[in-house]
Amino acid sequence: MSGRTHARVCPERTCVGCRERAAKSELLRIVMNKDECVPDHRGTLPGRGAYVHPALVCLDLAVRRRAFPRAFRVQGPLDTTALRADVEQAAP
Ligand SMILES: [Zn+2]
Repeated sequence: MSGRTHARVCPERTCVGCRERAAKSELLRIVMNKDECVPDHRGTLPGRGAYVHPALVCLDLAVRRRAFPRAFRVQGPLDTTALRADVEQAAP
């Protein structure tokens, strides 16, 4: 009767940590500010973005894989101290 069986396709992004795809809304957008990675909670900051699950495991994986410099196409290294503290705080 209703034709609404299919959920609308939501934009997906790949987590740079675990490399799994997830809905954009489930991931935290990270942008580069000078040589620092900063969280973009509202998704409004300009520039290239990288997406990661807001979880320390994924963040640490991303750092270990040097995924952020790669995502932002810079030589790196990038400071993720503040970002890590932010994720740590947000995690239950
Ligand atoms: Zn992940």
